[in-house]
Amino acid sequence: MSRLLDNLRSNESAPRLEPSSATAALCVLASGSRGNCSVLVIPSTKDTPRRVYLIDAGLSPRRTAKLLDERGIRPDEVDAIIYTHLDTDHCYVGSGAGWVKAIRPGYFRAKLLIHRGHMGRAERMGLLSVHTEPLDDACELASNVNLYTEVLSHDSLGVACFRFVIDNESGTKAHLGYATDCGRVTPRLIEHMRGVDTLAIESNYCPQMQQSSDRPMFLKKRIMGGSGHLSNQLSANAVASMRVREHLILLHLSQQCNTPELAATQHDHSGLTRTISTQHEATPWIPINTASQSVDIVFPRMKTKQGSLFVGGKK
Ligand SMILES: [Zn+2]
Repeated sequence: MSRLLDNLRSNESAPRLEPSSATAALCVLASGSRGNCSVLVIPSTKDTPRRVYLIDAGLSPRRTAKLLDERGIRPDEVDAIIYTHLDTDHCYVGSGAGWVKAIRPGYFRAKLLIHRGHMGRAERMGLLSVHTEPLDDACELASNVNLYTEVLSHDSLGVACFRFVIDNESGTKAHLGYATDCGRVTPRLIEHMRGVDTLAIESNYCPQMQQSSDRPMFLKKRIMGGSGHLSNQLSANAVASMRVREHLILLHLSQQCNTPELAATQHDHSGLTRTISTQHEATPWIPINTASQSVDIVFPRMKTKQGSLFVGGKK
C-alpha cells in the first residue's frame, strides 16, 4: 500500500501501478460524453495472477493502449472489457470496426462482457465476432473477484451498474461500486451499492446550466427525464443513501452543463475522499481499500463460493 502511494507521488502525470501492490486499484482513463474508460487492476496473489479489467471502452484502442502503456500495462494483459452499455461514448466504434479489429493476437486479447439485455445490439454492432460472453446478475470474474449487476433504465436498452467484490489476501473483502448513465436512482440501486468502500458514480449536470443551455428541448428532456443522466444533486443524494465508506469518484461530468467546482460543492457534505474524473486527463490510481468497518457488510446477493464462471443469471 505504501509502495503504491510512493509510486503515485513520484509520477503524478502517468503513474505506473506497482505490480507488487497488494491493493486493487482503479484509474479512470477518461470520462465524459467523448469517451469513457476505466481500468481496474486486481493484484496477484500466491494462487492467482494479476488481473486487468477495462470498464467500458469508449476510447479508441490505440489511445487506450497508449494510456495503459504509460501506466505499465500491456494491451494483452487486459483480461476482459466489461461494458455498462454500448452507446458510442462507452463502446468506441470510430469510423471502422473499433474494438473488434483490436482484439487480435499480440494486441488486445480481452473477452467482451456484455449484459444479456445488450446482446442484440452487440450483434448488430458486430461485437459477437470476437470472444463475447453475456453478463448476468452475478458472475465470477476470477476466483478472487465477483461482479454483481443491477440494470437501470437508460435510453431504450438500459445500463448495467456494477458492484465488484474483491477478496483480499488478508481475508477481508473490498467493494467497488460503478454506476454511470443511470438516469435515476432506484431503491434497488441503493441496495445494490450499499456500504461499498469506493463508489464511482456519475454527476453529470447542474440543472440550472442544463435548463439555460442552448441544447434542443428534446435533448434536455432526454437527459433530465429519468432515463438519461444524474444531476449533481441526485448523485449526491444517492451517495448519502448508499452509505459509501471511503472514496468517491465522480464520473461523466458534462462539459457544457457542469463544472468540477459545482459537482464538488454538491458532494461536499459526504465527508469522503473524492476524485473528480475528466474527459482529457486520467485520474491517479485510486486504491480500493477495505474501509475499517467493512468486515460487517453483508451484501444480500453475495455468495461465498461460486463454482462456475457465470452464475445467477438464466435466459
Ligand atoms: Zn455516456
